[in-house]
Amino acid sequence: MATPRLIRPVTTPFSAVATVPGSKSITNRALLIAGLATGTSNLSGILDADDTRAMAQAIVGFGARAEVDWNTGTAKVTGIGAAPMAGPLTLDANQSGTTGRFLLAVAATGSGAITIDGDEQLRSRPVGDLTDALRDLGVRLESTSSTTELPIVVHADGLRGGEVQLPGDVSSQFASAILLAAPLSKEGVALTLSGELVSTPYLDMTVEVMRAFGATVDQYDGSKFVVAPGGYVACDYVIEPDASAASYMLAAAAITGSTVVVEGLSPLSLQGDVEFAEVLAQMGATVRHHGNSFELTGPSVLAGVDADLRDFSDTVPTLGVVAAFASTPTTIRGVGFIRNKESDRIAATVTELRRVGIDASETEDGMVIRPGPLEPAVVQTYDDHRIAMAFAVLGLRNPGTRIADSHCVAKTFPEFFAALDALHPDREPLVIVIDGPAGAGKSTVSKAIAERLGLMVLDTGAMYRAVALSALERQIDLGDWEAVGELTKSLRIELDGSDVRIDGTDVSAVIRTAKVSQAVSVVAANPHVRDVLKHQQRAWMSAQGGGVAEGRDMGTVVFPDATLKIFMTANIEERAKRRAAESVDFSFADALADLRRRDEVDSSRAHDPLAEADDAVVIDSTDLSVGEIVDKVVDLLGDLVRP
Ligand code: C5P
Repeated sequence: MATPRLIRPVTTPFSAVATVPGSKSITNRALLIAGLATGTSNLSGILDADDTRAMAQAIVGFGARAEVDWNTGTAKVTGIGAAPMAGPLTLDANQSGTTGRFLLAVAATGSGAITIDGDEQLRSRPVGDLTDALRDLGVRLESTSSTTELPIVVHADGLRGGEVQLPGDVSSQFASAILLAAPLSKEGVALTLSGELVSTPYLDMTVEVMRAFGATVDQYDGSKFVVAPGGYVACDYVIEPDASAASYMLAAAAITGSTVVVEGLSPLSLQGDVEFAEVLAQMGATVRHHGNSFELTGPSVLAGVDADLRDFSDTVPTLGVVAAFASTPTTIRGVGFIRNKESDRIAATVTELRRVGIDASETEDGMVIRPGPLEPAVVQTYDDHRIAMAFAVLGLRNPGTRIADSHCVAKTFPEFFAALDALHPDREPLVIVIDGPAGAGKSTVSKAIAERLGLMVLDTGAMYRAVALSALERQIDLGDWEAVGELTKSLRIELDGSDVRIDGTDVSAVIRTAKVSQAVSVVAANPHVRDVLKHQQRAWMSAQGGGVAEGRDMGTVVFPDATLKIFMTANIEERAKRRAAESVDFSFADALADLRRRDEVDSSRAHDPLAEADDAVVIDSTDLSVGEIVDKVVDLLGDLVRP
């Protein structure tokens, strides 16, 4: 399993223009309609993500021609027009809800057996209300399991049309699916939504995109839609940036007192999720509109809010996370139906807020969040992109936040982490170095500091140990500097948390044995080895964009410009006691003798000896706890680590 992704905290407010991809919902509607239309459409602003690739693949699957340039976000689509799709045919929606549901209804307008399937997650999301409505319209459906779940075979024979009802408080994707199929029916469709309505902006969006492609749709009271027959006509269509994706960028500004501009979105957007900015405004953020763009500035103190999010429910996890930083509790209402999204988003948001120390609880149709102090954690994401992205935002103000299985953002926003990082690109990388003799407590303290500040640790001693181990294993004479230098160049040493690998093999335990400890100071005195490892250490730090480096020459040689240099010491008896306690190989007397020898070799060697940098802060750990040392380091960093 991939290592959880560490989020780098924001330490000073920023001002940035956010990169936001095209709207997923509009992309999938436009792709589908263009694929059904007569003529060739040119689409721009297309989102490149798993869900939209699923739709693009599906329209080609039913006979449309699509040349999609995912890099530029443009597509030339020639629709099937007058020749409806013909089975036998299988269309796979993968994980994409809109693709699966829309295709189910649209398939009914074709002929023959058309199977709609999806991946395991999509298969488990019920579609019973949609299949009931399709049956009411005379469509024959068949399923291997039940008709409330995919895969479903549509035995299509053209859609006659007529009147149909759907409950208004289930997924609006069902109503959108019926609407999208309706212009291809023989007699047109009159759709009525009964009871309470949720996610109505998505229906408005569907209608707007349909109209752009020539459909005639009349809408009454938001709950009744009359769609005339007549099909779709190709057009050139510009897709707006994704308002749900923008919510993460706006939230990032809101919780860090920063300013973010999102271009291409206005309050007149087709997407209901632009409303999210208004909720942030109620919490104290300042929102400005300049023509076709939004600008949001976070306040110094966020207030809690009582908000009904039924019309823009994709932003529930985002609001849940923002609420964690408010001064008063927040209640989210009206979103019971999001328990059937990629995850149970109410349970997932509450569980993960609790994991970072926030007092949150579920209600039937939402949640209550009572803000408080946060703590570092590995956030679980349930293969739900919106949980991953929302909690990544939380990590901007909660050092030590890691996101498990972070690749799931690819569903709708593959470049999400780069876009989040780009919000605060100019910040100096935070490089903290900790030098000192063996047993001074460098490792424990480095880990604790890294955890507190959301950084990774570079254990350079482990690199020297890895070289010593390899030299011993290959029986290379340790005194042969050239040979050991060449060996160092040939090794691929990887540091991954506390795991150390040489050429892919885990050596985390073997490098700590007494045999390696005895050999390492000779290897570390070799200038060729030091030179190769120094470059690798600097490369690691640039790739991470900062971190905590521990060793002997971090402050003096490898990172002379480090943000903070610590030199840790402790009296030798204390150090020997610690060493003996952590190793089965060593008695106290062995440890004492080994330390004396290593101190001597490390500080007297000709190349990069163990030494305090002139500007290092010396910390004697003999009588200090780890917590006390970490507090001291955080104090020394001051405003650099206080958002
Ligand atoms: O920190 P640790 O005890 O694992 O380091 C093993 C040895 O590697 C040290 O005793 C020292 O000889 C060498 N070393 C070094 N320079 C560093 C880190 C470790 O010479 N930056």
